[in-house]
Amino acid sequence: MTFREHLQVFRRAAKYTFSVNRKYTLLLIANAFLSSAVGYVPIYFSARVIDSLIAKAPVSSAILYAALTVGIVFAVDLLNTYISSEKDAAYSAVWRNEDWAYSEKAMQMAYGSIEDPQIARLRYRIRLESQTGQNLFFLYQHIERFTGQVTKIAASAALTASFFTISSVPVGSKLLIAAGIGITLTMQIWASKRTNALTRDFNAASVDMNVIGEHFNDYIEDYGAGKDIRLYDMGDFLGDSILSLDRAYWERSLKNARQKAAWTLPVTVLNTALKFGVYAVLIYAALQGGITTGSIARYVTCIMLLVETLLQAVGTVQAALDNNHYLERYFSYFDIPNKMYQGSLTVEKRDDNEYDIEFRNVSFRYPNTEAYALKNISLKFRVGERLAIVGMNGSGKTTFIKLLCRLYDPTEGEILLNGVNIQKYDYDEYLSVFSVVFQDFSLFSLKLGEVVASGRDFAEDRVRECLQKANFGDRLDAMPDGVHTYLYKRYDPSGTEISGGEAQKIALARALYKDAPFILLDEPTAALDPVSEYEVYSDFNAIAGDKTTVYISHRLASCRFCDKIAVFHEGRIVQTGTHEELLADETGKYHELWTAQAQYYAVKRTGNPL
Ligand code: ADP
Repeated sequence: MTFREHLQVFRRAAKYTFSVNRKYTLLLIANAFLSSAVGYVPIYFSARVIDSLIAKAPVSSAILYAALTVGIVFAVDLLNTYISSEKDAAYSAVWRNEDWAYSEKAMQMAYGSIEDPQIARLRYRIRLESQTGQNLFFLYQHIERFTGQVTKIAASAALTASFFTISSVPVGSKLLIAAGIGITLTMQIWASKRTNALTRDFNAASVDMNVIGEHFNDYIEDYGAGKDIRLYDMGDFLGDSILSLDRAYWERSLKNARQKAAWTLPVTVLNTALKFGVYAVLIYAALQGGITTGSIARYVTCIMLLVETLLQAVGTVQAALDNNHYLERYFSYFDIPNKMYQGSLTVEKRDDNEYDIEFRNVSFRYPNTEAYALKNISLKFRVGERLAIVGMNGSGKTTFIKLLCRLYDPTEGEILLNGVNIQKYDYDEYLSVFSVVFQDFSLFSLKLGEVVASGRDFAEDRVRECLQKANFGDRLDAMPDGVHTYLYKRYDPSGTEISGGEAQKIALARALYKDAPFILLDEPTAALDPVSEYEVYSDFNAIAGDKTTVYISHRLASCRFCDKIAVFHEGRIVQTGTHEELLADETGKYHELWTAQAQYYAVKRTGNPL
């Protein structure tokens, strides 16, 4: 990093720390200043006490100095205790803010970025670096340490300055001490540069290992995975894998610690030699009668403190510069733009629900992949239509839905809503016209009503109505607190566990509650039992009402009620038409899928499986 870049990152970070919680930062500085300054009160007055006793001055002056020492220290300590408690209280706000920043960023990010493994790795890395002492918290520490160190340096230098004017100390000795301080500092700068670089290299090389270890731990601790771990006897395998990761980590960390020690040892040796030299010079000066007994104690303490603190301050500055590398990465995550938010057109609110959608030559590749998941898709559907999408696994059906509701933008081609490219619409508004149930939907562990309404405030009657439409009515009646029952036990031990099929019904009810003009359903009955599945299909017209519906299903018989069926194969649309039209083409993919499925069901005389 160049000096300019260092400055830019530092300025941004400092501005950010002040904006997060100005009070905390100011208290931190005040606390560090007072804690460091207070130590010099006894140093200064003790020398006075000794000198006044040796000079046989009236005992009252020694008592006055002693009283001043105790009084000032007491007052400063009292003030500092208060500042410290205020600072600790403010710290929890800083900490919460930092934690929230990640969640907030995740919510603001485009879905594609969330799924992008490189971004996930970056997020993991900066989080870990923050937890292990880098980034913003490290900056707070630097501010605190540096304030304390500058205070000590100023106080020590002020109390030491007169040493260089003492005539009985030879100029050569003074120069020797000044040179010793300079050399020790130079060595410290050099050594801490090297040790910081070693730490950085070590951390960078640990990222992959940490990510794997963390995933192993998450998997083991996840109660959902507990069944598989036990039944497939994976305990030893997982345990050994983690142990070998740990072992490799500790071996590398030991090597790193030794390398760093080799760099810090010469500084320690020099520092010790310097202290020895200071003692020698002061003892010599005292023997010459050039300084008072009290001053010897003061000079020894202050020169030692000066050297010690100068070394620490160099270390702090070096560490702050080093932390800029981490901060640069930290900010790079928060700077990831959300290109979904570029559009500004409002989506026309139409009472007649007159919306039409067109895919025009749309092709799509997932980020960081070579193969196309969708290739040259062109399709148009109008409001109120029921569009079914069928095809084998991996043929691109879910990807089609993801593009339609703008979780991703097409790699080529465009998608139009009422003739306008959907990228031109305000993103949040555009999303508001879709109710979606994905195959891998997730329900939060909240009250059932909150889950269905996706919010704290919910209209109980409407929640019930939607749950009934989704065939959850009987189960709702059996729930202890009705729509106020907590789902799952994650936050409330008295919560109710639900089956996969029941969860799917709730997800469907949530889509209905949103009451958007488009309903997109990806395998909405995959987890349902045959009776529930039959009920959903037969009630589908009532459930969907006048809404435009896009419906993915493997159960081809369920697509018969749709106005149009699009058959996907290897990322392309290979057929479109009604059920009858498609079935009539005996060489087509639809006929092949239909015939394959028909073998597994009782075939009625109509030839329709179900
Ligand atoms: P379907 O819904 O028809 O089963 P998908 O649309 O889920 O198929 O997947 C289409 C293709 O895109 C598959 O080859 C799948 O492996 C790939 N794919 C799906 N999701 C991702 C992703 N997040 N990253 C990379 N490739 C993906």
